[in-house]
Amino acid sequence: MNKLMEIVSRSNSIAITSHIDPDGDSIGSILGLGLALKQKYKNIKILIRDSLPSRYEFLPGSELIKKYDDIEEQKFDLLFVLDCGDEKRIGSNEILKNSKTIVNIDHHISNTKFGDINIIDASSSSTCEMVFSFIKDLNLLINKEVATCIYTGIVTDSGNFMYDSATEKTHLIASELLKTNLNKGRIIYNLYQRKSINSLKFIGYSLTNMKIALDGRLAIFKVTLDLLNEFNVSYDNIEGLVSYGRDIEGIDISVVIREQENGKVKLSFRSKDDDVDVRALAQLFNGGGHKKASGATLTASLAEAESMVIEKSRKFVRW
Ligand code: 5GP
Ligand code: MN
Repeated sequence: MNKLMEIVSRSNSIAITSHIDPDGDSIGSILGLGLALKQKYKNIKILIRDSLPSRYEFLPGSELIKKYDDIEEQKFDLLFVLDCGDEKRIGSNEILKNSKTIVNIDHHISNTKFGDINIIDASSSSTCEMVFSFIKDLNLLINKEVATCIYTGIVTDSGNFMYDSATEKTHLIASELLKTNLNKGRIIYNLYQRKSINSLKFIGYSLTNMKIALDGRLAIFKVTLDLLNEFNVSYDNIEGLVSYGRDIEGIDISVVIREQENGKVKLSFRSKDDDVDVRALAQLFNGGGHKKASGATLTASLAEAESMVIEKSRKFVRW
């Protein structure tokens, strides 16, 4: 840690980034670390490839987030990559290639350790939980603003403290964060209670048209771009769809098969049983993630993807 403090102190330019299609943990961790570093260091940039989903706009410092395309040169003395299992998911080759020292902080067991320094803890509920300790190790303050960001990542990545990864330690950290007097109600409101009517109608439609395969063990949702257009929603609005399938009794695996603008297909897997490892399943599609939440991207039609998913899931469900 002394070595890291030294690297941070002597870096004239520092950037913090995360993965494409950012979620609560990625946004919470880059903002939490960014705001904390700003207490002591200058020239901190917070960057991602995509636009910030609107439900995270309430987070302190969200206005500091820039897109790679918005800056002149993606070149830094020190680059923190947070919550990102592999280098492809950063969404920029340039930033990785041009930056001098890469610090990779992540909780994905599948992390490819692409950094110069790799801090990986697969037992952690979230990258935010790791960033909490990291900020403390750097002797920076977890103030209310930082705590709001970190709490957001912990809540979202632990499935509201529901997953196995939400340990005693996670709850103790949450307790410490709450002591900063952060506005928990506002976090929950922004994350979960400002859905659009259209997005819920879309969920209703998707549930009505859900396909059940493998003798009631696999729930499949197919999402086309046309359908999103028809309901006037973006995928970002309906992120929770896959969990509805998982929550059905008897279902071992829920999958959303989604058409993307780049012509590729995105898979999102969820499971709930310790013996159903959807990370291993996602790896068959060159993806990754966690045992009970994983994903992959492939080049195929939705129908092709669906039959591949059914075939490959066969070995993973509990018969
Ligand atoms: P989600 O279904 O929410 O997009 O992703 C669930 C988990 O799977 C996340 O932890 C994420 O890191 C991982 N994941 C999602 N998509 C991909 C992918 O295309 N490649 C890899 N390696 N991991 C993914
Ligand atoms: Mn995460």
